[in-house]
Amino acid sequence: MVRNFFIGGNWKMNGSVKQAKELVEMLNGFEVPANTEVVVAPPALYVDRVNQGLKKEIKVAAQNTYIKASGAYTGEISPQMLKDMGVDWVVLGHSERREYFHESDELVGEKTAFALDAGVSVIACIGEKLEEREANITNDVVARQMKAIAAAVKDWTNVVVAYEPVWAIGTGKVATPEQAQDVHAFLRQWLAENVSQKAADETRILYGGSVNGGNCKTLAGKPDIDGFLVGGASLKPEFGEIILSRQ
Ligand code: PEP
Repeated sequence: MVRNFFIGGNWKMNGSVKQAKELVEMLNGFEVPANTEVVVAPPALYVDRVNQGLKKEIKVAAQNTYIKASGAYTGEISPQMLKDMGVDWVVLGHSERREYFHESDELVGEKTAFALDAGVSVIACIGEKLEEREANITNDVVARQMKAIAAAVKDWTNVVVAYEPVWAIGTGKVATPEQAQDVHAFLRQWLAENVSQKAADETRILYGGSVNGGNCKTLAGKPDIDGFLVGGASLKPEFGEIILSRQ
């Protein structure tokens, strides 16, 4: 089964009009290999401008959406609005949303299903905290997070899973290729046993957490790592090397 490589860039709450313009120019200068999909997620305010500026091979994602199409939900945006603006992707369940905005496993599952129903593809993030890894419950944690998504989602075709150990996000402390591969293999097995063999074979599972130009190639060589969700390095020229990491 050949799964296209997938590189996501999460800009988080960074940038300005000027920086977004520079990043668009940088991205437009990268050659995207035919076997690689690239999606960048600017802050909501810049999503449309970035989407208008990027070449068509590179897609744009929002960093969050809500579970209603419209209404009295001040500060939120809906997947229907993304669709209306020609935006095809959303990142959901990022650990920063879970931690700072108290998003539960169930809400992430609900958001995922709602976005998919609206025709927006989802990068669904999961991952354990340091104390959970140290307590040897990593697999239990990611299985619990996957279960909440699987309870809401019927069709996994437009879902990409991002395994992002919280202790590796923004810390410079990357998981070893073996640590990442072990969890990715577990997740694929989990999909086979709890969703379907098709979902296990076809769903891209990304690794995220301090990926950079120096460590991406060894990680990309692991059989169950189908790409990356990149934070800090997606704002730098080395993002170009990460895009090429499977070549
Ligand atoms: C992220 O924000 O999803 C992420 C992985 O960040 P970083 O690459 O900076 O660790």
